[in-house]
Amino acid sequence: MSMLALDLAATIRHDGHGGVADGLATLDETREWVQAKGPLVAEVLGRPFDPAMLPVDDDVREHLVGVRRAVRSLFARAVSPAPPSKADADNLLEPAEALRLLNEAADELGTTHLEWPAEGEPAMRWSGRSSEPRALLLGAVGRSGIDFLAGPERLRLRACPAARCVKYFLQDDPRQTWCSPSCGNRERVNRHYQRKHAG
Ligand SMILES: [Zn+2]
Repeated sequence: MSMLALDLAATIRHDGHGGVADGLATLDETREWVQAKGPLVAEVLGRPFDPAMLPVDDDVREHLVGVRRAVRSLFARAVSPAPPSKADADNLLEPAEALRLLNEAADELGTTHLEWPAEGEPAMRWSGRSSEPRALLLGAVGRSGIDFLAGPERLRLRACPAARCVKYFLQDDPRQTWCSPSCGNRERVNRHYQRKHAG
């Protein structure tokens, strides 16, 4: 399974002070994220992807932020009736609009073709509407979102209910409530404190 869409969603995180930090807020941060995710993009594309070939400008950043909003809106739908991440609960797209955005991004990759070199194994490749790195990045992100939401992993998606957390995570065990042991510990301490001071 590709983790690219989940990784993109995780660029919105708790800032440690009760607020929300956006890992794609600036061009520098977006460049850093794209650099780090090169291998995940390559995994979706089924061929090498060199992030250094992609000039990250405002257009790329805005498109990534748009696909992220679509992914997070659909994640909110996936965890329903449990409440969505608090980070953007007031800022979610209508499902039809989120689906349109995600599908449009994935469409950049075109359709699947079979390649079978004389000396080698048959392999599935995206025909691609373009070999532009920008189109490949957005296409890979969109495709990863589709594969995730249409696949079995969707059923393990959870929004961490800890007060100071905005994370979506994959539940490994049915008893797992929190995204991490540190969220669980913090919540247990909070609840203990609230009970002690409730009356
Ligand atoms: Zn958490």
